[in-house]
Amino acid sequence: MKNYQKIAFASLFFLIGFYSCQKEEVSFRNHDPRDAFQKVARFLNAPNLETQQQLILTFERKGVEEFLLADFQRLVKSVRASNPIFFISGGEPFMRADILDIVAAVAAAGLRCMINTNGAQISARQITALAKFPLQAVIFSLYGPEDLHDTITGVPGSYARTVAAISDFHRQREKTRLILSTTVLSETVAHLPHLIEFVKSLGVDRVKIEHLNFLTTEEQLAQNEYCARTPAAAARTMTLERPSLFARAAAEHIRYNLARIKQKFGNYILIKPLLDAHGLREWYTAAPPTRQRCHFVLHSLFVRPNGEISPCPFLTDCGIGSIAEKDIRQIWRQRTYRELQIFLAHGKLPLCHRCCKR
Ligand code: SF4
Repeated sequence: MKNYQKIAFASLFFLIGFYSCQKEEVSFRNHDPRDAFQKVARFLNAPNLETQQQLILTFERKGVEEFLLADFQRLVKSVRASNPIFFISGGEPFMRADILDIVAAVAAAGLRCMINTNGAQISARQITALAKFPLQAVIFSLYGPEDLHDTITGVPGSYARTVAAISDFHRQREKTRLILSTTVLSETVAHLPHLIEFVKSLGVDRVKIEHLNFLTTEEQLAQNEYCARTPAAAARTMTLERPSLFARAAAEHIRYNLARIKQKFGNYILIKPLLDAHGLREWYTAAPPTRQRCHFVLHSLFVRPNGEISPCPFLTDCGIGSIAEKDIRQIWRQRTYRELQIFLAHGKLPLCHRCCKR
């Protein structure tokens, strides 16, 4: 069951994904990296770029020196005119005692904000306060029926606490969208129809189902080799590692159940990414070919718990600059940051093969 605990941790990063910013297309038809660099450089200098940025904040776990509230307030002030979307995710944001001050700083600036929580660590007082903010969405996570959910999180009683938090938030919210997020696991996928019916009865507006992002041990080795060539060579992945790919029968089980769920619930559910039968088999039973570039890294910034900035939410130790030391716009324009963006935008890392951000 150890791996499940890692899934619960890793999958929290899958929850980053509801954003509505406009993306400007960057064409990569010419594969010459120098050409791509120029296109990206033009893109980065586009006057409307900053209106397209998202700022993603993560709160992973205790033990890292977290950025200060004052650093964050300075960041909000610095980017306010650009009107970015803030997506606060984790780990678990509510592990930070001042999380409501962080949300308040975004709200006071009149900026859009979404927050993603496991729902098991929010107090009744925090739910009441959260419900008063004009947020775009609050996203809770459940993985399946009570026993499976608690096994996956490794925390007995976590299912009951999250369900209570969802009900409580629904009762008190005004316009904030209430989303439930879950991850596809072969052990839980057959239980999802029941889970979806249940959360619908709790008042949830929509359910997001994300495919499992994982690397096999072999892919992880290839990833490490590739990372050694990144402009920030220390990059490590945050992704779940499995010894091998899924068996065909497990992939077929997932495909069959997801097709039934889509048929039954239609647009009430959002599957990320939406794969056809062939794509789904590839995702779980083969190394999916890289077909697309990654635009995500070109319009989003990732603020790590320690305040470091990185373009990719799934890579750690490749932060370029910290919000404690520099203005975020300075970091964004830094040459080393651009080089890393361009490297990642080619989508060649094994890590990119099963990424929902492309
Ligand atoms: S596609 Fe690759 S570079 Fe882009 S966000 Fe995903 S893992 Fe990071």
